[in-house]
Amino acid sequence: MDESLLPIRMINEATYCRRLFWLEHVTKQFVESHDTRDGSRIHARVDKPGGRLAKRDEPADDPPAVARSVTLSSSTLGIVGRIDLVESAHGVATPVDYKRGSAPHTPLGAWDPERVQLCLQGLLLREAGFESDEGVLYYAESRKRVTIAFDDDLIDLALRAIVDARAISQATTIPAPLTDSPKCPRCSLVGICLPDETNLLRAERSGTVHRTLTPPADDALPLYIVTQGATVGKSDEVLEIRKDGAVIDSARLLEVSHISIFGNAQVSSQALRAIADRGIPVFYLSFGGWLSAICHAPVSHSLDARMAQHRAFADSEATQRLSRGFVEGKVRNQRTIMRRQLGDRAAVELQQMSLLIDRIVRANDPDVLLGL
Ligand code: SF4
Repeated sequence: MDESLLPIRMINEATYCRRLFWLEHVTKQFVESHDTRDGSRIHARVDKPGGRLAKRDEPADDPPAVARSVTLSSSTLGIVGRIDLVESAHGVATPVDYKRGSAPHTPLGAWDPERVQLCLQGLLLREAGFESDEGVLYYAESRKRVTIAFDDDLIDLALRAIVDARAISQATTIPAPLTDSPKCPRCSLVGICLPDETNLLRAERSGTVHRTLTPPADDALPLYIVTQGATVGKSDEVLEIRKDGAVIDSARLLEVSHISIFGNAQVSSQALRAIADRGIPVFYLSFGGWLSAICHAPVSHSLDARMAQHRAFADSEATQRLSRGFVEGKVRNQRTIMRRQLGDRAAVELQQMSLLIDRIVRANDPDVLLGL
């Protein structure tokens, strides 16, 4: 794929939040959340290419055609995108984009990021030679199709979104976080972005944060298999734990963050593939909890970041500097949370943590740092 083309999905993110686009597109950061897992589940139905696109000169009585997972790009627009479904007949094509959740109650039928994404899909179909004047957003939870017309205002918004996203991707600094936005608590990268903390530091205000700090929402939980002789299998979207042929427990794949197997239990190949597809790691431990092996899907993105990590690992000075930074940052953040939550009631502990930070900053031996 031409790396200079912007993925439409990322332009959706840029319309939602410019900082989110930077984190995901420029720095390739991604955090799995309940929402993203649910989105993947819903898209599984339309992720496999198939079906067909109608030809422009098909006889008028030919039935409409449906194509799944159609990838199109345009060097003129500078974008690339995959369309979940394309319904076409006699030269007219309608993109259909699957969305999780229910159709929103908003005057325009959908929020701008989704409207922009759909409109760009329509523009790609136009470039491919079809007429495309409207698209459909299909909301899986409410099972509702919302038709969006590609009028001049929406096309203008979509074209400006491309220009804006390109400008952000070429900028040398990350955009500022949103301020007190209801978007942040649902954002999967809130734990990396730290909007409240960053805004507080940016404004150099001395006051306190006026709303609850938002930790990343991780609705999935670990699954511990401790029954010896158990087997983990898969039935649809559910993991079933069996012993002596009977199901003794089950867990929805969507709600599993990782699996830890203590001692001797087996995972079937089908279950292992489904687990790996969802990026869920499996940890194999001894009866007593000592880690023996980790099974994880191949990591396929952020090659530059991993190369930089290996370079840093081979450079002892860089390793120490980074480790000191990680440990110091962790303790400072813990101290900040403690100060905000407990104030003077934790005066002694806060003082001890300050001393600890001083020692961390001066530590120049990895073992000392590990101890601290
Ligand atoms: S947490 Fe808020 S500001 Fe940060 S990336 Fe997400 S939506 Fe944007």
